[in-house]
Amino acid sequence: MFETLKEQPADKILELIGLYKADPRAEKIDLGVGVYKNAEGVTPVMRAVKAAEKKIWEEQTTKAYTGLAGDPVYVDTMIDLVLGNSVPGDQIAAVTTPGGTGAVRQAFELTQSATPGARVFVSDPTWPNHLSILKYLGMETIPYRYFDSETGGVNFDGMIADLKAGLKPGDVVLLHGCCHNPTGANLNMVQWKEVVAVLNEKGAVPMIDIAYQGFGDGLEEDAAGTRYVAENVPELLIAASCSKNFGIYRERTGLLMAVGKDTSRRDVTQGMLAFLNRQNFSFPPDHGARVVGTILSDAELRADWKAELEDVRLGMLELRKQLAGELQRLSGSDRFAFLGEHRGMFSRLGTTPELVQKMRADSGIYMVGDSRMNIAGLNTATVPILAQAIIDAGV
Ligand code: PMP
Repeated sequence: MFETLKEQPADKILELIGLYKADPRAEKIDLGVGVYKNAEGVTPVMRAVKAAEKKIWEEQTTKAYTGLAGDPVYVDTMIDLVLGNSVPGDQIAAVTTPGGTGAVRQAFELTQSATPGARVFVSDPTWPNHLSILKYLGMETIPYRYFDSETGGVNFDGMIADLKAGLKPGDVVLLHGCCHNPTGANLNMVQWKEVVAVLNEKGAVPMIDIAYQGFGDGLEEDAAGTRYVAENVPELLIAASCSKNFGIYRERTGLLMAVGKDTSRRDVTQGMLAFLNRQNFSFPPDHGARVVGTILSDAELRADWKAELEDVRLGMLELRKQLAGELQRLSGSDRFAFLGEHRGMFSRLGTTPELVQKMRADSGIYMVGDSRMNIAGLNTATVPILAQAIIDAGV
């Protein structure tokens, strides 16, 4: 049977890592893979994570199965982290998933089983995994305009026009909760409100992927759009990831939430989420979830985690500002100011694959072909080198 298998396309980012490793130049800069790195180029284990792991090691007495939804402390504290008190608990069904990716996948599966034939509207561009999972599930995907490569900001008029023209009742609209990947360009609160009005008018269901809470403007600020949507639509799916904001990438820690105003459907929805876990992998991974639950339910650990996350956030913001400043100086114009406006780990420069290739060949700058840069791949010494390479390439 294996002879019938088709070769799958290589992952562009993993390919880029290989090219970077093979490049002998000492001054090369890796802006590819989407993990946070500190000024030394290290992806650290956060202090509170280490402390929580120690506590778990000391106190845990069994590794028996959890429930299908995972550790209730994790589920409850994460609901609180993402949704605050925007909606009452009896409107929320939730399960632990293997990473944000697991939550995304099962949100699509829930959609497919609830509304066969539902189409999923996605931002152009979006995280490539959204597209490949949708394709794998055989779901129809419709892009809406999102990034304006002229301004580096959101093409909001285009977005609204596409949603208004295309949406039918039951369609799902995938939105990034904050820190849009791959562009770094985000909706402001006025725009969130307008999007919600269009979705409600069309009878479409929002799905929010929130994978970088705390990396943009702060933990509360980054959740504001999601909370507004939760308060103001009849139904909402949310896929949350702890990979970035807790730095526990490999532990595979995510949460899928289904928020519905009709509380009489809550238990059935919870049952469906548990069923999806059961069909796909049975019980969700526990270690990362228990670490997060331990941190969020302990005042001291929570405060320390927040402080370290805030340092991470401010560090990336500083690098953005420095990069925008260098480019302003070198170009004598404000045309790169959008890099300072973007939020999160990524920024899309908005240039061509040819110039991305040229920067790689001439200056050893490794960014993804669509010109997405991982800002955390920089440090104060490499920002001027990148700025010069961008100018030298004629971007
Ligand atoms: N959504 C987006 C937009 C992401 O960028 C990521 C991480 N690359 C995820 C979801 C999920 O990540 P993970 O499965 O590692 O939690």
